[in-house]
Amino acid sequence: MKKYLPSIAMWLVFESDAVILWLALDNLFYLFNFSYIGTAIAVGLAFYTQKKRYARNVVQMAVGLYMLVYLGILCRENMQIEGFWYYLFLGVFEAAVIHYAVAKIFGPLLFGRGWCGYACWTAMVLDLLPYKTPATPRKRWGFVRYVVFAAALLFVSLLFLFRIPGKAEIMWWSFLIGNGIYYAVGIALAFGCKDNRAFCKYVCPITVFLKPMSYFTLFLIKVDPSKCVSCGKCERVCPMNVQVSEPSRKRKHGTECILCMKCVEKCPNKALDL
Ligand code: SF4
Ligand code: SF4
Ligand code: SF4
Repeated sequence: MKKYLPSIAMWLVFESDAVILWLALDNLFYLFNFSYIGTAIAVGLAFYTQKKRYARNVVQMAVGLYMLVYLGILCRENMQIEGFWYYLFLGVFEAAVIHYAVAKIFGPLLFGRGWCGYACWTAMVLDLLPYKTPATPRKRWGFVRYVVFAAALLFVSLLFLFRIPGKAEIMWWSFLIGNGIYYAVGIALAFGCKDNRAFCKYVCPITVFLKPMSYFTLFLIKVDPSKCVSCGKCERVCPMNVQVSEPSRKRKHGTECILCMKCVEKCPNKALDL
């Protein structure tokens, strides 16, 4: 039963959000939305626990496609960073604001970068590319994320400052075009850097929220120093270059862990656990 605890905890978190938001905002959509996402993630984690090989990819597709196609394209909700600023400036506590609060700002205090490992619609495509483990050294391009973050904030600020009409329509097109650019840049970087997750490491503006919050995460990969023989296998397999065998939150690139569990699978001495 213990091995299913992360799965149950994840489901409870999402289900609590579903019920609270449904009752607080008197909107049945939130019950459906968060129940669906929480159940997909919990079932995927349970399958993963049973060592089903593609469990994580299936969850990514189930949640990612729902958010990209249904919420983003069909319901016209911009869930990108500019959508977050847009709804925040409107003073509307719904849509992207709730999504960011749950998945990307406060949620990471509990489940770290779980969003990045199991739900992101950008990464659901990037993770299918050939470079699952980085084949080149990490670059010092992390500053790019702050440039993209500031550009999104500036873009939405100008829309409000100059009272540009048709903001809702602009946000929808921004979601479509922005996602197209993200996929193009993400795929180009993956092949250029021989690293599927290069986009996540250098460009994604959401990491400006994700990284500091996930430093304090409750669920993180723990190492038992008495079992570790410093073989380095965990770090060689990590897609995010995390210094896994360092038994502290201050481990290098620790806030990049996406909880993919590849290091846990690879450790020959079972020194790693969640
Ligand atoms: S870093 Fe950004 S693009 Fe990568 S998985 Fe996380 S949210 Fe998605
Ligand atoms: S794979 Fe296991 S034993 Fe090897 S360095 Fe990592 S934690 Fe230590
Ligand atoms: S391999 Fe381990 S440390 Fe690296 S991202 Fe996956 S779970 Fe996190």
